[in-house]
Amino acid sequence: MDFAQLSTERPRVSDQDPEEVLHRVFGYETFRPLQGDIIREVVSGGDALVLMPTGGGKSLCYQVPALVRAGTAIVISPLIALMQDQVAALKELGVRAAFLNSTMDFEQARDTENALMTGELDLLYCAPERLIQPRTLDLLHDASISLFAIDEAHCVSQWGHDFRSDYLQLSRLAQEFPSVPRIALTATADERTRKEIAERLSLTEARHFISGFDRPNIQYRIAPKTNANKQLLDFIKAEHDGDCGIVYCLSRNKVDATAKMLSDKGYTALPYHAGLNAGDRARNQERFLREDGVIIVATIAFGMGIDKPDVRFVAHLDLPKSLEAYYQETGRAGRDSKPSTAWMVYGLQDVIKLRQMLEGSMGNDHFKRVERQKLDAMLGLCEVTSCRRQVLLRYFGDSLEEPCGNCDTCLNPPETWDGTVAVQKALSCVFRTGQRFGVTYLIDVLRGSENERILQFGHQTVSTYGIGTDLSANDWKSVFRQLVANGYLRADPEGYGALQLTEQCRPLLKGKVPIQLRKDPVVKSSGGRGSSGSSGRRKIADQITDTAGWEALRACRKVLAEEKGVPPYVIFHDATLFEILEKRPNSLAEMAEINGVGAAKLEKYGETFLAALRELDGL
Ligand code: ADP
Ligand code: ZN
Repeated sequence: MDFAQLSTERPRVSDQDPEEVLHRVFGYETFRPLQGDIIREVVSGGDALVLMPTGGGKSLCYQVPALVRAGTAIVISPLIALMQDQVAALKELGVRAAFLNSTMDFEQARDTENALMTGELDLLYCAPERLIQPRTLDLLHDASISLFAIDEAHCVSQWGHDFRSDYLQLSRLAQEFPSVPRIALTATADERTRKEIAERLSLTEARHFISGFDRPNIQYRIAPKTNANKQLLDFIKAEHDGDCGIVYCLSRNKVDATAKMLSDKGYTALPYHAGLNAGDRARNQERFLREDGVIIVATIAFGMGIDKPDVRFVAHLDLPKSLEAYYQETGRAGRDSKPSTAWMVYGLQDVIKLRQMLEGSMGNDHFKRVERQKLDAMLGLCEVTSCRRQVLLRYFGDSLEEPCGNCDTCLNPPETWDGTVAVQKALSCVFRTGQRFGVTYLIDVLRGSENERILQFGHQTVSTYGIGTDLSANDWKSVFRQLVANGYLRADPEGYGALQLTEQCRPLLKGKVPIQLRKDPVVKSSGGRGSSGSSGRRKIADQITDTAGWEALRACRKVLAEEKGVPPYVIFHDATLFEILEKRPNSLAEMAEINGVGAAKLEKYGETFLAALRELDGL
């Protein structure tokens, strides 16, 4: 590869310093941890496998080398809808970026290809299925390529829920372009997945960069499900009124119902799932990205690669299947590093449903065993009585010495109680009634209800009838949930939530080993108290004293965004706007000091915002 020759043709990229690019183009002061190392590795021609949490700053890891190295960087990204915004954001920065995907007509594609061939592009985003077409590969061979960046690299893993078969073909890049550095990036990968990525993308020789997984600005909270709709409303109202957020549900019907419920209460809530037609889906995603304060209610079909920085909360009304999924979905909150909430309610039915789906799913025993372990880890997080963040980080091979102080179990430590006797009663009730009944029935038997079914089955005569009046029905639900979550009971895979004993429960049934249970915290209807405020991390909205100024700057940004047809955060992030408001720059030179104001944006918007500030001051 003859870079020397190319760099004389394009002097602006020859001997640039990554730091200089960071300041001038992106307007940022310093690299975040690892970014500098990764960038140096790629700039010098090495391969890299990068694991960084969402919001950690993965994009810069290939965007800066793309500007420093000669030639065009090819970015492989699975979601066509998002390429557009990424390219728009880069263009705003004065970077020569384009994309190539199936939404373009012939002429657009040809223009882009021409730009590639004549060296007029710094970055070209490309869908994997497009990239692996022989025609595209031929083009790339004739062009000058600076690097390949493979985004969302976990899509290559067959264990993950984002598997894309086209990704498997990307290993060809290693053979066909042996001298072009490749960088694969993902936010989600346990050790097994990480190995799989390295093998399947022929990156076994690559340097691995694994950044701390912690997202300290996200507050993790998981509560027992009582009345999910009301709990969600209370939560949003108390802590995130007017904020932008994502609500995840398992089924399309529930997505529709929840979006309607929130809309009826006056929120701008839009559904997103694979059952909507493509136009509606695109429109709803667009509004979520562009308008302020939109809540999107979605199945997991939504969100991969969503890089909206100011999502303030992610709520789960159903349990994700694994900690990978949970961490990825919750990770979409607070990319801008501002306080955000990951909130979830879950109950016994969730556990039963997921366990049944898993057992009933296709796939061989090995596959099911892996899935079972993943679900167990997820349930472990739900039932833990110590710091949730420590559990999460440990799972991803990271660690946190002290409890975090910013999750519900830290803020409001749950009590435990000696459940040995209760558990023995519960298990024995399952046994005595023939392992054929669901939890409601079992609780009725334990509490000595006289309902007809019990009489019909003659269960008023079993030895466990009426021995559980010391606990409320809700307490019993909590006992059963924990027994299922911890694998002592399983739901009958054939049928309607009938609970059955597992091998594992024998010692408990005999009362031989003591067991501590979690006491579910009493849900306070006022909600929110003592959770968000006490952590010492305040919302941006709370930090703003000059509301009029804030609104004026936002209005100014909105006008510019509409003129350009881009989301407001592409003009400036909230954090940048906030800094402008605080520092009140008086000149373009002072404006250039603000984080997030690079040369291109300074030139395009500097004066407009200075004028807005002057107007505010009545000058
Ligand atoms: P990821 O792709 O890892 O989820 P992004 O690349 O979207 O994260 O970056 C998240 C946010 O952090 C973006 O708004 C980005 O502009 C910002 N960011 C990244 N690196 C830096 C840096 N060195 N200094 C300041 N902000 C940064
Ligand atoms: Zn904690």
